Amino acid sequence: MEMLKKDIQYIKGVGPKRLSLLKKLKIYSVEDMLYHFPRDYENRSISKKIVELQPGDQTTVYGFVVGKCQSTYVRKGLNINRYLLKDATGSMTITFFNQSYMKNKFNHKDYLMLYGKVKGCPKGLEMVNPTYEVITPNETPIKEGIVPIYPSTEGLNQKQMMHIQRNIVEALENLDDYLPEDMIKKNKLCSLQFALKNIHFPTSLQQMKIAKYRLVFEELLLLQLALIKIKKKTIKQQKSIPLTMKDGIASFIQGLPFRLTSAQQNVIGEILKDLEREVPMNRLVQGDVGSGKTIVAIIALYKAVMNGCQGAFMVPTEILAEQHYTSLKQLLEPMGIRIGLLTGSLTKGRKQQLLKEIQEGQIDIIIGTHALIQETVNFHRLALVITDEQHRFGVAQRAILAEKGDNPHILVMTATPIPRTLALILYGDLDISIIDVLPPGRKEIKTHSLIIEEKERAYATAKKELALGRQAYVVCPLVEESEAIEAKAATEIKEELAATYFVDYEVGLLHGKMNSKEKETVMKLFLENKIHVLVSTTVIEVGVNVPNATMMIIENAERFGLAQLHQLRGRVGRGDFQSYCLLIHNNKSKIAKERMKIMEETTDGFIISERDLEIRGPGEFFGVRQHGLPDLKIANLFKHIKVLKKVQGQVEELLQEDPYLMLEQYPLLREKLEEKFNGFQGT
Ligand code: ADP
Ligand code: MG
Repeated sequence: MEMLKKDIQYIKGVGPKRLSLLKKLKIYSVEDMLYHFPRDYENRSISKKIVELQPGDQTTVYGFVVGKCQSTYVRKGLNINRYLLKDATGSMTITFFNQSYMKNKFNHKDYLMLYGKVKGCPKGLEMVNPTYEVITPNETPIKEGIVPIYPSTEGLNQKQMMHIQRNIVEALENLDDYLPEDMIKKNKLCSLQFALKNIHFPTSLQQMKIAKYRLVFEELLLLQLALIKIKKKTIKQQKSIPLTMKDGIASFIQGLPFRLTSAQQNVIGEILKDLEREVPMNRLVQGDVGSGKTIVAIIALYKAVMNGCQGAFMVPTEILAEQHYTSLKQLLEPMGIRIGLLTGSLTKGRKQQLLKEIQEGQIDIIIGTHALIQETVNFHRLALVITDEQHRFGVAQRAILAEKGDNPHILVMTATPIPRTLALILYGDLDISIIDVLPPGRKEIKTHSLIIEEKERAYATAKKELALGRQAYVVCPLVEESEAIEAKAATEIKEELAATYFVDYEVGLLHGKMNSKEKETVMKLFLENKIHVLVSTTVIEVGVNVPNATMMIIENAERFGLAQLHQLRGRVGRGDFQSYCLLIHNNKSKIAKERMKIMEETTDGFIISERDLEIRGPGEFFGVRQHGLPDLKIANLFKHIKVLKKVQGQVEELLQEDPYLMLEQYPLLREKLEEKFNGFQGT
């Protein structure tokens, strides 16, 4: 292992200039360099004769330059240099765009090895901007076989990167493997040494894949172990207030205006049990939009208060905070429980007063936005912290709130349906409860997609609902870059709709640029059915509950992720009426069409998120980064879900022999883990 720790400056080929460039790439040691994996490979092991080439081939060709360079200067920024290449079977054109240094680079009769993509051109076939090497016939080129392509930085070209990497890889020997032998055997993994050699310079694609599998496996293993270690540490060290008194809970549940679903009962059972223990609860409740998570939170909060403690309920938006505040007041104030609402928009005086009441324990339950995690908030006896719509918060924010009390119990709730294997990584430190049943009597929301030219039909349908006394949402296009542009677009749409289609109705407007007083007023009017049509940006995405609203029109639906459309759609279908969701979209791409179809066909959030993942690919699905996970170099949580499952199986086995995961029997693995995740605190 010694050699891996060696400073990169002692490697042949690394001078002061390259050293500073490597630092830019965060490469300081031999190990960093070895773990700087190729982003791709060029397979040059197959070469073709010119006669065999087809447009679209990505391949190597060998041939002689015939004649001189044909150089054309088109205009500033566009110059073209062409060569004619011949082998025994035919000839083709080699074209370099905007590479003025390629002018007269090759001479008549130079023998070249070229690699690139073959295209058709008026004169037959050509290769545009290929990589090349001038060689003498019978000499082996430097770049042959499968050639790595590295993520690099300006001033450090591929050849140089390769050169340094090769010097390192060639000197690799007797590397200790930190994965336990059993695990290597059982999972048919190659050795560390093989993996590091073959991820850079494989002799075949097959070997590269074997190497990659091993590296993906170890990366996911280390990540999973790190998360479990954090969880174990938390459990061992912390003690929280056990909430053992359970008087009144059964009758409180009895007195609710509805009966809990079986799923709610199970989840509440799990939570109440957790709360009775001295070990802090760390639980994630996952339940689709409308599955009834709020009441679960309320019952947990009720229990905290019955035990003489305080509870905090953190939500991502003011609208949602206000809404929860209203629901909690309705259910809990009659029992003498005092509830406070803390948001960023309170007046200074009111806020001071509230903070005092929280600190002195005159308030039992405090609901708020991220204002709750500000330093000035001190609690009297905080025993339970709940965050709603967890996906909107970073891990760090949740942690700050948790530090406020004396190791409070933690409950996080999310409607983002995450496949279970993934949830185990993203929330590896949490126990998971799932509400997988919707309250009874819910009618499936009828969903249709319309192309933009059919927009009027959507409004006409909405008008029918309005005539029945129902209400409608119109959600405006997402503008990622700017809340201000988004607000402007929403304002325009509101004005247009109010003057045309909905001239007989009251049309309201809601967007992120409004202050919370304004938002609150609008929401209140909408709730009271004094506003009939609410034109809004995605600020209404989360949690808003107006049962009389039965129509959701989403403009430019193709700009939203499916999971987000699903969340938006969840704003309707909350009462006893049949509800509708109309997706107006710009039907140009096949993908857009496919996605609209999924929305029409299913209302199951889990299916939707899995399909979204398939279609859009992992990157866009949702920002993994925000969950506070360290960067992954080679593994991809989505692409490598099967490997992840295997890894999780292995970790479970490890935990059986070693419940506190001290890893004493595997010192190398333990060392690696500490080195890699030193400082990473996760949740
Ligand atoms: P979400 O899981 O999206 O946060 P909510 O907690 O807002 O869902 O619940 C959605 C609606 O369903 C609310 O109006 C709530 O009062 C109602 N609800 C919750 N549980 C039940 C139940 N068991 N039976 C009937 N209605 C319920
Ligand atoms: Mg909710």
